[in-house]
Amino acid sequence: MTIYTGPVFDMARAQFQVIADYLEIAQDERDRLLYPKRAVAVSCPIHRDDGTTAVFQGYRVQHHLTLGPTKGGTRFAPSVDIGEVAALAVWMSWKCALTGLPYGGAKGGITVDPHALSRHELENLSRRYMQEMIPFVGPHTDVMAPDMGTNEQVMAWFMDTYSMYQGRTVTEIVTGKPVSNGGTEGRREATGRGVGFLTERACERIGLETAGATAIVQGFGNVGSVAAQSLAERGMKIVGVSDHTACYYDPRGLDIAALTRHAATHGALRGFANEIAFDPRELLMQPCDVLVPAATERVIDAAVAAKLRCRILAEGANGPTTPDADLVLDQRRGEVFVIPDILCNAGGVVVSYFEWVQDLQQFFWDEAEVMSKLYHVLQKAFAQVMARAERDGVSHRTAAMAIGVQKVQDAKQTRGLFP
Ligand code: NAD
Repeated sequence: MTIYTGPVFDMARAQFQVIADYLEIAQDERDRLLYPKRAVAVSCPIHRDDGTTAVFQGYRVQHHLTLGPTKGGTRFAPSVDIGEVAALAVWMSWKCALTGLPYGGAKGGITVDPHALSRHELENLSRRYMQEMIPFVGPHTDVMAPDMGTNEQVMAWFMDTYSMYQGRTVTEIVTGKPVSNGGTEGRREATGRGVGFLTERACERIGLETAGATAIVQGFGNVGSVAAQSLAERGMKIVGVSDHTACYYDPRGLDIAALTRHAATHGALRGFANEIAFDPRELLMQPCDVLVPAATERVIDAAVAAKLRCRILAEGANGPTTPDADLVLDQRRGEVFVIPDILCNAGGVVVSYFEWVQDLQQFFWDEAEVMSKLYHVLQKAFAQVMARAERDGVSHRTAAMAIGVQKVQDAKQTRGLFP
């Protein structure tokens, strides 16, 4: 019996079983690796602007504490439940281990549509959530960051709330803060730029010229918009983009700078150019060199995977591809080069780690230093994944996850089981 249910956790569990079989992990060690160490559920009451009281459910899951504190984003979305948060925490663990960060994975969230709250209500809810979490988090216990539906402002409210209770400014309690409040240069762009950097490495592997290549990006928030920009800077033509409000496709190429300005002004893509509106699911299956899912989980199922017409699938989102779709993509290995999520979107947590280190030391780096250190880490992880996949004839996802899982398993075995 487990409290971790639902399709997203089922997916994390199914992926783990594939890796555990491949690594020949003993049956009696598997639960210890997969199931989270801790899960906290909180009720967050707030005053609405109309004077009524509303209560929102919040969660935080800390997957393992073997390698250091836990680290992970906070999601504000209607879909959030304990299973989704736990799955995201598990993926964070493999991602941190793959990139060599001294963290276990964590994730948190609130079941809420943040667009349905006023700014004042959003601040109340953010502060109340952090206040409820204070007994369970800390700079050396569990460090939060942004995810879908949260941003630098929410992180600033988290940091301020935690600091008020400590009686001193504790910038290192969250990452992804504004630079003016102890954040690091480059964090906001880190995930999307990492997607661009790794896509370029994939292009080199398959002999695809970046200049003139075409790309489609699903999701136009932090990750998707910066990834689109980063690919455009490499000479790629972005022919399709979508978010939860609109979807556009134009084989002649889209103006990413104009789309970014529109999204910043209006909060979303809706209303940009109705004459190029397109079906969002069909968008994923249009011909392009690079497809970047950068929105949410499970958008590429087996049916979509069979019809993908991209050469590179760069997974900016967490968990965009279902295990059934992986089976299809396994058959299409020569056609579609997959950059798996725990590698492709790792830029965010790597620079979050840099932010935490800078905050702890109160010694700050410039953007060029942050980026060069980021690309060094991503380059190394990419090379390790490629080498493992080639050595054992496994998919890139299996290779990436196996490196992560094995590091956690080795650390657990060496530390032993207390008492
Ligand atoms: P965000 O809230 O900034 O943006 C999410 C975007 O996805 C928005 O444009 C939204 O409209 C769009 N979207 C939501 N549902 C959609 C749908 N069904 N179809 C199309 N678009 C949809 O979030 P983000 O930080 O950019 O995160 C996006 C993904 O990347 C998530 O899976 C997140 O876990 C992952 N991720 C984020 C970071 C980070 O640093 N922010 C790091 C690693 C991974």
